[in-house]
Amino acid sequence: MGIMAKQEEGGIAAQVDGLLALAKKTVKQNPERAKKYVSLARKIAMRNRVPLGRKRKLLFCQKCGAPWIAGYNLKVRIRSREGKIAYICACGHERKVKYKKITKK
Ligand SMILES: [Zn+2]
Repeated sequence: MGIMAKQEEGGIAAQVDGLLALAKKTVKQNPERAKKYVSLARKIAMRNRVPLGRKRKLLFCQKCGAPWIAGYNLKVRIRSREGKIAYICACGHERKVKYKKITKK
């Protein structure tokens, strides 16, 4: 039972990762479709109670849902005074992450 649940979880996570990868591939040709892939990935994760985790949350904008590509629709700025890295989406949404959290793992 426990093992089954674990496998199930892995399948969902793989599905979510697949959609996020697909979103990233699609964003330059079709940004709207790319956003749909992201929202689908989020829905699947939520429905199955699979946490997206810190790493996946940096793959797309939490506000507009666009998959992030550095230098394309994402600016990365180091805020050394705050000890944080700011991820700034083309929509203006800013996500700040502490250095430590990124360098860990
Ligand atoms: Zn955005």
